[in-house]
Amino acid sequence: WESLKKGDPEIFHWVKEELNRQRNTLEMIASENFTSLAVLDAQGSVLTNKYAEGYPAKRYYGGCIYVDEVENIARQRALDIFGADHVNVQAHSGSQANMAVYMAVLKPGDTVLGMNLAHGGHLTHGSRVNFSGVLYHFIPYGVHPDTERIDYDELEKLAAEHKPKLIVAGASAYPRFIDFKRLRKISQQIGAYLMVDMAHIAGLVAAGVHPNPIPYADFVTTTTHKTLRGPRGGMVFCRKDFAGIIDKAIFPGTQGGPLLHVIAGKAVALKEAQSEEFKTYQRQTVKNAIALAVSLKEKGFRLVSDGTDNHLILVDVRNQGITGKEAEKYLDQVGITVNKNAIPFDPEKPNTTSGIRVGTPACTTRGMKEREMSIIAGLIHKTFELKSDILALEKIAHEVNQLCHQFPLYPDLVIPE
Ligand code: PLP
Repeated sequence: WESLKKGDPEIFHWVKEELNRQRNTLEMIASENFTSLAVLDAQGSVLTNKYAEGYPAKRYYGGCIYVDEVENIARQRALDIFGADHVNVQAHSGSQANMAVYMAVLKPGDTVLGMNLAHGGHLTHGSRVNFSGVLYHFIPYGVHPDTERIDYDELEKLAAEHKPKLIVAGASAYPRFIDFKRLRKISQQIGAYLMVDMAHIAGLVAAGVHPNPIPYADFVTTTTHKTLRGPRGGMVFCRKDFAGIIDKAIFPGTQGGPLLHVIAGKAVALKEAQSEEFKTYQRQTVKNAIALAVSLKEKGFRLVSDGTDNHLILVDVRNQGITGKEAEKYLDQVGITVNKNAIPFDPEKPNTTSGIRVGTPACTTRGMKEREMSIIAGLIHKTFELKSDILALEKIAHEVNQLCHQFPLYPDLVIPE
């Protein structure tokens, strides 16, 4: 921090401002979390200086003996945690992990089944504005209008009709367990590959509080920065027989040199994920999501699928007389950070929406429990009720700030004035 302050006071200022924002607001974006200081140290290390195209012991650059150790440790920890045959830890992001699987098994124009973005899927699962939808012929599947849970019968029908080469499962805004066994059966019936993108739930899977897709899927992709609580990045898991095509699809297929400082951060986060403390944390994340769901329902909110099995909730805000966009804005005003999110069959446009996505991973990292979730539900409710009263919103913002102070973020991090 001293060097940053001296070298670039302007950037130092904004980084400090961002730290203060993280410390003084309630982070409830379901895909965000706070890494440990150890992860931050690894990421800010001299490993950023090193080029290491290729893989451990098979690099295209000299001087890789130490970074080879780092990458091997990250790989081994990931394999031990998730129980896979092979992992590639070089994916720069979740999107690039997905791109690598597509590159490995598909040709442009091939048919793929992916979860509808509007029902909770991710951009890289076939959205027309994303490379996935541009390069491949994605057929969307979604949730049933009554249950708002994945309609596996419809999915099975679509699979039989379109005979996709790949079925992509996983989501960015789906609050329920995914039935990997059923998806395996459907993909086997038509001879398709099955890929599960567990980006959102990887931490829950690591701790055994969500079913593990590895035994069922040919490929499992993930990010490392959401519930898994590591640095921003991705990983791809696969069976031994696909190891070669996956590694080739990452490098040289879609990436150049790996980000060894990030891989070191992944290794550190994976070590943390092996601890008992991490399992307790993940269990609490889910307990908190359930507690938040119960409290929000008590206050009259409608939740998509009526609740949650994981770390996130989708709230339909229409009965509050506001849109998702407005809900995000009002909550921002009081220091509760969420994102507007389409709900299934949303009548509003994607940049307006009728819902918000609320997640508990970050607040749980700060140490918050069920009691705080009930307080937060009350604060959300009050915000919408008193939205046009600026003084009332200021009072709520003060309460949010006080709650944050009770659960200090990075208390050991001392930064220069
Ligand atoms: N897959 C899923 C299910 C996601 O939710 C996300 C991110 O939101 C990604 C992939 C993409 O990850 P990244 O933002 O690292 O590219």
